[in-house]
Amino acid sequence: MQQYAPSAKIKYTLVDQILTPCGFESAKYSLNPYIGCVHGCVYCYARYLLLRRGYKAEDWGRVVYVKSNAISRLKDEIRWKERGRVYLSSATDPYQPIEVVYGITRKLLEILLSNGWPIAILTKSDLALRDRDLFVKFNDIHLGVSISINEAYEIFEPNASSYERRLAVLKEMVNLLGEERVSVFLAPFLPIVSEKSLDGILDDLYNLGVKSIFIDKLNIKSQNWITINRALDEIGISRRDFWRRAKDPRYWNEVKVRFIKKATERNFKVSLFF
Ligand code: SF4
Repeated sequence: MQQYAPSAKIKYTLVDQILTPCGFESAKYSLNPYIGCVHGCVYCYARYLLLRRGYKAEDWGRVVYVKSNAISRLKDEIRWKERGRVYLSSATDPYQPIEVVYGITRKLLEILLSNGWPIAILTKSDLALRDRDLFVKFNDIHLGVSISINEAYEIFEPNASSYERRLAVLKEMVNLLGEERVSVFLAPFLPIVSEKSLDGILDDLYNLGVKSIFIDKLNIKSQNWITINRALDEIGISRRDFWRRAKDPRYWNEVKVRFIKKATERNFKVSLFF
């Protein structure tokens, strides 16, 4: 498992509420234990959370706020809020490397478990395997792993687990929880870069017994273009070609058609977010 990223600056903050309304139909609440994410994905648009606090786009991945009162807030809110599925997490990775040090995600899961609340988890980290003992005790749990590419991920997702380690998480979770409770979030789909990876990823997922795939497109916002540009330069992809595709609705329609064809050929259940 990856260790705590030494370059990240850790800060602390208090929040008024920890269970916030979730934008997805499949969950009622979002639960973000941290603000910021050491994984530092170049395309992440949650960086608006740090821009608001006076940081620059490039600071994403280098500064993380720990929500010091997350556990006490959840203990309180779970008593009076209406029961509903809790999604960890919409704007951070609950298993980013600093979770090794702070263990907040694990403590939050223990509270949700003892109250019998349903959960959905989305991660890019093999640290999720640490909590397998809790996962099996939930009556209603869904675990998702995000994947965008199967090569050069260290340029686009510098501190997330490698592609191979994410496959290892999927393999273990399919065995442990069953294929119906595990899915892959093929997101964000990156023009040119993800195109090259698509067949290989679908073959690997098929071989692991994954049945369900969600796909979403890249959104260029919250100044992520600045950091995407640097990654493109590093792997020698034209910024212009990438931008043109990213902004062209016809391109995304073609991606949809191609994805559906390739995924249904392999009998995946697919869900489109664009
Ligand atoms: S893992 Fe998710 S939240 Fe973290 S930087 Fe990457 S995209 Fe953003």
